[in-house]
Amino acid sequence: MMKKILIIEDEHDLVKGLKINLIDEGFEVDWADNGSEGLRKAVEEAPDLIILDIMLPGMNGLDVCRELRKKNIATPIIMLTAKGEEIDKVVGLEIGADDYITKPFSIRELIARIKARLRSSERTEKKVPEIYSFGDIEVDFPGFKVRRKGKEVDFTSLEIEILRYFIIHQGEVVARNDLLNKIWGYESYPTTRTIDNHILKLRKKIEDDPSHPKHIISVYGGGYRFIGQ
Ligand code: CA
Repeated sequence: MMKKILIIEDEHDLVKGLKINLIDEGFEVDWADNGSEGLRKAVEEAPDLIILDIMLPGMNGLDVCRELRKKNIATPIIMLTAKGEEIDKVVGLEIGADDYITKPFSIRELIARIKARLRSSERTEKKVPEIYSFGDIEVDFPGFKVRRKGKEVDFTSLEIEILRYFIIHQGEVVARNDLLNKIWGYESYPTTRTIDNHILKLRKKIEDDPSHPKHIISVYGGGYRFIGQ
């Protein structure tokens, strides 16, 4: 599968050159020229890696990085810094960026770093705690109970299993097929429509405004991303 790289940078000439080279290397490239659009694309379009400039119109690159990490989105981020931004280098890594490269840089070097990051971002198995809280929701896995603002909400065991899967994979993109295979199993064949209906029901139970979900977000291309905060 083609890896998708999101470039968040307002220098159009630099982006142009980067795009040509990255596409040449077999990457799919997306682009945002300001911080807030970049943040939205990073969440909804689920790139495999983000190249993030610090100096951006509106929201700056450090804030974009901070916001993504706050949402537990672990997409590898390579920051672009300008010469003399020594402080930014340190801060960039402290706020959760994976690497940085100083302008002007060689595109070969950037591509080498992108490949290194993509290799090391392979997932590791995660465990979910017995009681897990997010927003005003508390999930008690051993007791098979969900409380909202302290009051028990009616949840089916299937819904709790879906929630568990989301929590384990929070910040990651969960494709409908992942849910089909992991929750329903290979033997049964619910339609993707069934899954969407379950997600709608789940949203009604955990979201303040189910039509503008903050926890179970739809991702471009068909899938979901759970944000547990
Ligand atoms: Ca810039």
